[in-house]
Amino acid sequence: MQRRKFLKNSGLTAAGMVSAPLLTSCKNETRSDANGKIIVPNKPIVVCTWDFQNASAKAWEVLNTGGNALDAVEQGVRMEEADVNNETVGKGGRPDRDGNVTLDACIMDKDGNCGAVVYLQNIAHPISVARKVMEETPHIILAGKGAEQFAYAQGFEKEDLLTESTKKQYQEWLKTSKYETPINIENHDTIGMLAIDEKGDLAGACTTSGMAYKMAGRVGDSPIIGAGLFIDNEIGGATATGVGEEVIRTVGSFLIVELMRQGKSPQEACEEGVKRIMKKNEGRKDFQIGFLAINKRGQTGAYCVHPGFSYRRYDQSGHENIESDSFIEKT
Ligand code: ASP
Repeated sequence: MQRRKFLKNSGLTAAGMVSAPLLTSCKNETRSDANGKIIVPNKPIVVCTWDFQNASAKAWEVLNTGGNALDAVEQGVRMEEADVNNETVGKGGRPDRDGNVTLDACIMDKDGNCGAVVYLQNIAHPISVARKVMEETPHIILAGKGAEQFAYAQGFEKEDLLTESTKKQYQEWLKTSKYETPINIENHDTIGMLAIDEKGDLAGACTTSGMAYKMAGRVGDSPIIGAGLFIDNEIGGATATGVGEEVIRTVGSFLIVELMRQGKSPQEACEEGVKRIMKKNEGRKDFQIGFLAINKRGQTGAYCVHPGFSYRRYDQSGHENIESDSFIEKT
């Protein structure tokens, strides 16, 4: 069973909402309308990896004023991309081992359209470039210089993404140049966001600066459709955070959506996803993975390797930070 930690409901005022009791199980029951179309009782709704309150509040604002899920997830994750105090996403993200900040992002809509950018430099909002790739090109992924040139052509501005803080940390790191993948950096990391809008349609977005001090050219799971993010408007969506190599090896987000298609709840599907990864890594415990999923009915679930992962959920009932259960028990 999931442990729920209700933290801050008071911020609801930001979205003009009033606190209400938390979700009850009957809220998630599915009904059909006269044409057999599924009515999603718990919508709109947005969830995101970690406790990114500003991002989820922004997405909620879009959804709550009748906006669609695609706009909500793009607007939501942009909050973290712009926040220089968040050193794992967008501007202010930690650089690779050569000192370059390289960003990865992807976005997916209800029709299975998707766009991604990998190894993008000098642009603060990779998620919006990914959306432009989806909407303005016949392609799905643009990489490196090509992605950057495309971004300029689309009107994005060149920005220095390294901040005084990340520059200092990088110079400190250079003294040992030890590459390791810390677990739960600052208690947040990549932001993956999943939303269902008023019409019951889904969309998702995922954006990151990747593993700090990674090899130049390294790309993780976050911009890879099926690994860091997957949406199927009939079933639900999933997203991931943590060591991207392990998520790619199991095509994690696609796997979770397929498990939901087979009848598993979002919670059960996330647990199975983590278990598959742990099976391939028998004896290894030095890495974190967190999966987050939502189904068409607005039910959500999450699971991770190490304690410490959480996700924020926002719907008409309010918003809460939900602590995820973990494969490795809390000591
Ligand atoms: N998944 C990201 C990557 O591998 C990083 C993270 O979420 O910690 O690039």
